[in-house]
Amino acid sequence: MKKVLSVVIAALMLVSCFALASCGGNDDKLVVYTEAGFAPYEFYYNNEIVGVDIEIAKLVAEKMGKTLQIEDVNFDTIIGAVKSGKADLGIAGITITAERAEDVGFSKPYSSTEQYLIVAANDTTTKTVEDVKGKKVGVQEGTTSDILVEGLIKDGTLEGSTITPYKAPAAAAATIGSKVDVVVTDKLTAELIVANNSGLVTFPFVKADGTPAAEVEEYGVAVPKGNEDLLKVVNEVIDELLTSGKMDAYTADYSAKASEVGA
Ligand code: GLN
Repeated sequence: MKKVLSVVIAALMLVSCFALASCGGNDDKLVVYTEAGFAPYEFYYNNEIVGVDIEIAKLVAEKMGKTLQIEDVNFDTIIGAVKSGKADLGIAGITITAERAEDVGFSKPYSSTEQYLIVAANDTTTKTVEDVKGKKVGVQEGTTSDILVEGLIKDGTLEGSTITPYKAPAAAAATIGSKVDVVVTDKLTAELIVANNSGLVTFPFVKADGTPAAEVEEYGVAVPKGNEDLLKVVNEVIDELLTSGKMDAYTADYSAKASEVGA
């Protein structure tokens, strides 16, 4: 009898384990890594991390019956943390790239962006990629902006330019005119930084002939490779947010909130 009971209990545990779509590790928590200096996707508002990406994270956790744990880390550690299993998800306005896709799985795209240049409002001569030649460029470390500028320095386009890495784009922009001359970052983030700072202006990072310095980028959620159950839930959440128009609504709402607090 005792044996039968323990077999039944073991079977029940196995079933509930499958029902929760996750076994092993910390089952009741969904650990999401982000970098909370990237409005409107993730930023501090009243001492709390909020943003479009956080709404995605909340819905995924809810669907999985888990408690959401958000960790604010350096952007360049997120992919590694998802790869090693330290994080269940990376949600940080992460551009889907072939190189990153070697280490992690990606959800379907939920937003797109392009690279923007931020310069001082009184700097009327720096407008195109070529104008940045020989100048000091601030970027958020490990981002596609960082990788792009590094490539442009290597191929000679930005000969003599130097890169200063920062934890967040706003921190980099705060040093325009002192430590750096310009900042390169994603469009929406650049527009918000400039909206909150009358001394700065921004425009698309394009060459003198009008060609963009980089292709259009798409944001995806980083998921551990092979975790198809989790990927399915994330994609469902993205579909729901996109088709209901909530993704756009959150983007507008959190852009307004970011402006309110100067994030
Ligand atoms: N989209 C850019 C990237 O993936 C920047 C993201 C960010 O700064 N949070 O590199």
